[in-house]
Amino acid sequence: MSDGQILIDGKAMNWTEKLSRDRPEGGTGPGAASPISAASPLIDPYLRPITYLRVSVTDRCDLRCVYCMDEEMSFLPKRDLLTLEELDRLCTAFVRRGTTKLRLTGGEPLVRRDVMRLFRSLSRHLATGALKELTLTTNGTLLARHAQELVDCGVRRVNVSLDTLDPARFRRLTRWGDLGKVLDGLDVARRRGLSIKINAVALKGENEHELNELVRWAHGEGHAITLIEVMPLGELTTTTRSDQYLPLSLVRARLADEFTLEDLAHSSGGPARYVRVKETGGILGFITPLTHNFCESCNRVRVTCTGTLYMCLGQEDAADLRAALRASSGDERLDEAITEAISRKPKGHDFVIERRRSEPAVARHMSVTGG
Ligand code: SAM
Ligand code: SF4
Repeated sequence: MSDGQILIDGKAMNWTEKLSRDRPEGGTGPGAASPISAASPLIDPYLRPITYLRVSVTDRCDLRCVYCMDEEMSFLPKRDLLTLEELDRLCTAFVRRGTTKLRLTGGEPLVRRDVMRLFRSLSRHLATGALKELTLTTNGTLLARHAQELVDCGVRRVNVSLDTLDPARFRRLTRWGDLGKVLDGLDVARRRGLSIKINAVALKGENEHELNELVRWAHGEGHAITLIEVMPLGELTTTTRSDQYLPLSLVRARLADEFTLEDLAHSSGGPARYVRVKETGGILGFITPLTHNFCESCNRVRVTCTGTLYMCLGQEDAADLRAALRASSGDERLDEAITEAISRKPKGHDFVIERRRSEPAVARHMSVTGG
């Protein structure tokens, strides 16, 4: 079987052939009894069920992390953004098609005006059981203010990005952030019962010698923690990726000098590999998109705040769902656009950070696609 082909009844076929077999002209034939309807589950050409949607609700942020954004960023005009109602329609269309996990991200999701209205309306899918998890990734600066409402909307877990516990380094890495606000947010979130995972990007010459301490701290606070390799997403003018890149293989070796790392089979279908740290009892993840291939179990797609659907974080191919959303108030066009896009989900990405290469593998920033 070649790439892009799937095996149906012992016969190799590509996705278009499968669709026309399932939906033959005139509605007769073997596929007619179980036609692929607009509401059929989303399964990609490599037979991966698409059950996890990440939605960037804004490209704006109140911080400027050095690996994510330049200090001077031009953000999208507000009219280009999907409205909260459009975001709801879009998420709901995916939930109808089998999405069970929805993560709102950004930019910083909590800076989007009235974003709690979106959380509130999406929580109806938790109530019906169609959605198993509604969650977010946040930098934590506004978490203290919103933690209770998030809990009220059925959010149970949050990912909070935090790369250092040193206030001066935090300020430098985020260009002006106040570490105290994030720690406050974490404290309130924990007291409100949210389970927390810390995301920390490993940065050469910055936090690299603090990571053991960060793991010990996170576990001491009762949080899980995931370390992330810098990914070549988005043009940066003041620094290059190879200046920032620190292989997690090295980080892991340093951790193993101090801790006993016990491999866990646990998989989220994503790029993280998990271990339990024997001494702390806590969970530690490693996201290593550059040194490991995690694509074979990929169950996710991402939508930007302008409604562009990216089938793979590391590829440029995309589908414009905003046009489909705005073409009519019904969801038929949207469903068709989603079906067509998923039929193009690639097998994997091809990130490379080379020493001599300064341009990013993918031009858009993580804050556009949503991390
Ligand atoms: N503002 C929120 C936050 O920081 O958690 C959500 C959006 S942010 C883009 C999501 C995640 O992407 C963060 O954990 C951040 O550290 C990570 N990130 C951003 N740019 C990255 C890059 N070039 N390589 C690796 N991770 C990156
Ligand atoms: Fe903002 Fe998150 Fe990017 Fe930092 S990583 S600049 S907090 S979007």
